[in-house]
Amino acid sequence: RAAHAGLYTQSDQVVLLTPSTVDAVLFNSSAAVLVEFYASWCGHCMAFAPVWKSLARDTREWKPAVDLAVIDCADENNRQTCIRFGIRGYPTLKFFHAYSEKGSNGVSFEVAERDVMSLRQHLINMMETHKESWPPACPPLESASEVEINKFFETNSVQHLALVFEKADSYVGREVILDMLQFENVAVRRVLDTEEGLVSKFGVTDFPSCHLYYPDGHMTRLSVQMEARTFYSYALQRLSGVVRSGRPPPLVSDLSPNNTEMEWKPFNRSRVYMADLESALHYSLRVELAAHPTITGGALTALKRYASVLAKHFPGRPMVKNLLRALDTWLQSQEDAEITYKSLQVVLDNKEETPEALLPDSVRWVGCQGSKPRFRRYPCSMWTLFHVMTVEALNSSNSDAQEVLQALRGYVRNFFGCRECAGHFERMAQESMYQVKKLSDAVLWLWSRHNRVNSRLAGALSEDPHFPKVQWPPPELCPKCHSVQLTGEHQWDSAAVLTFLEEHFSSSRIFLDYLE
Ligand code: FAD
Repeated sequence: RAAHAGLYTQSDQVVLLTPSTVDAVLFNSSAAVLVEFYASWCGHCMAFAPVWKSLARDTREWKPAVDLAVIDCADENNRQTCIRFGIRGYPTLKFFHAYSEKGSNGVSFEVAERDVMSLRQHLINMMETHKESWPPACPPLESASEVEINKFFETNSVQHLALVFEKADSYVGREVILDMLQFENVAVRRVLDTEEGLVSKFGVTDFPSCHLYYPDGHMTRLSVQMEARTFYSYALQRLSGVVRSGRPPPLVSDLSPNNTEMEWKPFNRSRVYMADLESALHYSLRVELAAHPTITGGALTALKRYASVLAKHFPGRPMVKNLLRALDTWLQSQEDAEITYKSLQVVLDNKEETPEALLPDSVRWVGCQGSKPRFRRYPCSMWTLFHVMTVEALNSSNSDAQEVLQALRGYVRNFFGCRECAGHFERMAQESMYQVKKLSDAVLWLWSRHNRVNSRLAGALSEDPHFPKVQWPPPELCPKCHSVQLTGEHQWDSAAVLTFLEEHFSSSRIFLDYLE
């Protein structure tokens, strides 16, 4: 618990070490661990924390082979542990090999530049120093020879063998090998440009480039927008038959359930549907809020702000907009410190039967359908609603970034039924929401935080196998959103992302199919 007060939280994809867990995490573990010993008061540590968090997100798929951990040495409870590891300055990085013996002091982890790329590459160097205690989840990282590749299918039964051809000093192949270690039916090896037999057999002229090899001798080049790590990993994860380890392959029949409750509505995955947005409103206002018989204090203020922003920016059918305006007007006129849900419900259900103000009283999931009732649906529709709202606000003249973001935040904090989600979202908001000044930055803030959630949830139990969590929008949806730096690092082109989001979530493109 002590470490939570420090610079990291459980949402950061790093292990928060405590005196009672440190030995179990570092010693005799089947994965290597890279630990940051830090002090929460130290300025360098504060500056370094975002880099460490980015590294954790960047290497999230590598966890079964190597994990990242932190411990706050400024916390009194952790002092003895930090002394035991001989920590004198902060931040100190130490690498613990898989199966390190109890009492081991780890290996110093020094890099000239503490940026994500240098740290990640040095992490690979350290992984390669494993000898007989190679972490079982880590595939071979050394380059493959012609003999090995020729005999590959004699001993392996994977469907796809991906060969990353590259120069000796390139890390791309090893990064992709690690990115793919949690996926089945695909194996990745690196092949050096000096491996002439293979280079000529595959007709390789570009380094790096990635080629697929099949048991029948068939070979083909992996088609990607750019020859870089992220694009290879992304494309390999999408090859047919490739699934996360331990997950059954998604069944096509999941998508055509034949009971009426789940009647599948064909939809376009790259479009937004009004039916989901109206369902989000119905569920949030009629189901979630109903769990609060009386609403007072900060929750009431949050509700007023949420209603006000919905009334201003929900790009709905006129009758729904009218209802939201009526709800807003009623809420803002409430001067008592407390309202009851019942009184709000009267306005919401508009029993006066004014026909031009109505919010349909049911859910209809379309773009947010899941292959099972437990997948997607309401949370998916809330994200969609939130993105639509920030984009609508951007296009309107009477809004500001904080008004919209804080209204969404207030709703999540006070009412969103997934309390764990609310906690995570609130932490992200506390970290940086206040810095957002422009509406265009509000659109991008929400997009990038949603991607953080996607990164954390990739492979989680709540992930619908038919809708895997990806860093969104993927290259096939928005090629211009992706680029690579001179160093080969993947980079989002924020301007292109903004243009894409404005278009994708714009009210004029929302499909009206399946509405009541
Ligand atoms: P979702 O992630 O719900 O996304 C819906 C749609 O939005 C996608 O289909 C895609 O079209 C689009 N999209 C995807 N990524 C982006 C992006 N970066 N920017 C813009 N559009 C995008 N679940 C947990 O288990 N733990 C949590 O901590 C958690 N926190 C949440 C916080 C909030 C505020 C919300 C609304 C939901 C949270 N959830 C959390 C639920 C989770 O994020 C998903 O909503 C849920 O698992 C359904 O996922 P999905 O596949 O339908 O896609």
